[in-house]
Amino acid sequence: MRILQGIAVSQGVAIGEAVVIDDKGYRIPRRFIARGAVDAEMSRLEAAFAAVGAQIEQSRVEIAGEIGQQYGAIFSAHLQMLQDAKLRTEIDHLVKQRHYSAEYAVTRALGKYSKFFEQLPNAYLRERANDVHDIERRLMTQLIGNRREALEEIKSPAVVLANNLTPSETANLNREMVLGFVTEVGGPGGHTAIVAEALEIPAVVGVGDFLNDISGGDLVIIDGDQGRVIFNPDDETIARYEQEVEEHRSLAARLDLLRDLPAELLSGEHINLYANIEFPHEVDACQQRGAEGIGLYRTEFLYLGQDQEPTEEDHYQVYAKVVQDMGGSPIVIRTLDLGADKIARGVGESRVAESNPFLGLRSIRLSLRNISLFRTQLRAILRASMLGEIHVMFPLVSTLHELRQAKMLLTDIMEDLDEEGIPYDRNLKIGMMVEVPSSVIMLDHFAKEVDFISIGTNDLVQYTLAVDRSNKEVAALYNNCDPAVLRLIEMTVRLAKEADIKTTLCGQMGGNPIYAMLLIGLGLRSLSITPSAIPEIKKVCRSVSLAQCEEVARRVREMENAREIKRYLREEVRRAVPELLM
Ligand code: PEP
Ligand code: MG
Repeated sequence: MRILQGIAVSQGVAIGEAVVIDDKGYRIPRRFIARGAVDAEMSRLEAAFAAVGAQIEQSRVEIAGEIGQQYGAIFSAHLQMLQDAKLRTEIDHLVKQRHYSAEYAVTRALGKYSKFFEQLPNAYLRERANDVHDIERRLMTQLIGNRREALEEIKSPAVVLANNLTPSETANLNREMVLGFVTEVGGPGGHTAIVAEALEIPAVVGVGDFLNDISGGDLVIIDGDQGRVIFNPDDETIARYEQEVEEHRSLAARLDLLRDLPAELLSGEHINLYANIEFPHEVDACQQRGAEGIGLYRTEFLYLGQDQEPTEEDHYQVYAKVVQDMGGSPIVIRTLDLGADKIARGVGESRVAESNPFLGLRSIRLSLRNISLFRTQLRAILRASMLGEIHVMFPLVSTLHELRQAKMLLTDIMEDLDEEGIPYDRNLKIGMMVEVPSSVIMLDHFAKEVDFISIGTNDLVQYTLAVDRSNKEVAALYNNCDPAVLRLIEMTVRLAKEADIKTTLCGQMGGNPIYAMLLIGLGLRSLSITPSAIPEIKKVCRSVSLAQCEEVARRVREMENAREIKRYLREEVRRAVPELLM
């Protein structure tokens, strides 16, 4: 049994066999094969070597013809390496005698050679490690295909272990089969983490290097509450976690009973609990959990994992379905927030690589640079506004100029629609995300130009504390309850109140019961959170009074550091709602 600690990003416990995706993007298969399968495995190996030999020879001929014999010679060297009798004997031996799978035997044998080259002092010889990697990559591609196929090909329940999963890869995981996932990299606020919550599967990220020691088929427990990953657990540990799964299930059943009750404090104040969604199918989860509406629809997920940009009609159909399925509840459609860790094929692809993508061309900035893309979406939103209570919201606004540009475009499109005789809601409410410190500082001005705001703490934390939300190396500095962040939240709530506009908070922080009392105490009355978090937050609301929450906020204002604040908040919520599993 081996236990590793990472960052817990999506609650719950998953127990299952591992599907391993290594840092080169390959699925690492099972380590061993059955005794009777040796012949079949040897045939697969033989076929893979033959196919790779033919591929390399073809590259040699083509390159030699196109740019010269000396370049073709690089491939002759690869071919020689592939056909090296000693290497082949070694791999055959691992399959025949040790019953390794073909893939595992290839990785083991070639891994040994590449490590050897990598350690050499001579730079030229060290470079040869890349040649070995290249051969390994070709053989693995023959044996198992590429990662995307592997991820989609998961046909029985499993946990996915990977170096990294992008938000769009995560979004495309098969929800029926993937019980949970663990990644070596990633941070607490990355969109991969957010998608895991949307899929409602336990996830731990930022575990550090571990894949080299794991094989497909190993039994793994993912503890998404504590951020623990347990490999080959003993019977006692399995039993303990099975009990935990049961406790989660029974708490969920009890919280289910709150579904149709209001999120009301003991002192009577109502708290609006809206849902954040990334995919239209999440509307079901919103209804099951009793969401009052959708406070944040992250529409950029329409672009992720697609080969083609969605058309106006694609947007319209999706929005129409969401509006219909939500049966008349309000829906805040956030315009696309692409860039940084959410890269869509084809959108902004021609731009040069950015060294600081989170400070670069993302979000509203990207939309304002791609007006036709932006226009397509805004037209669809305006058309859909006839179908129900739709509001539009701009992400990552950092200057008044940006907000005005976006609003001007909207007015321009309204005029086009008027000319075309296409109806839309003339009183469409326009809002903006408050997730950059500049927008808090200037909020008295912004508030005159929008109907509502939504505080995006995921970004507000990273931009206030200068901490990349998706980087495990600085994850310990990424604190929702850092006093600087809390001051900005409080300032936002006060300025919005003075301007008489509605404030919602839609960062992940709102869905964590630890922060609920504090946020209410700071003046928030509206939260938009991942649907699965609604029952717990409602439970907290129904268990506390406003006076209690304000007292919590008062105490927190006196504290200087995030750790102390978090500890205090955890104790308070435990005391107020002992049933929660915290
Ligand atoms: C946020 O930044 O808090 C937010 C809700 O937006 P996203 O997580 O999509 O960046
Ligand atoms: Mg954001």
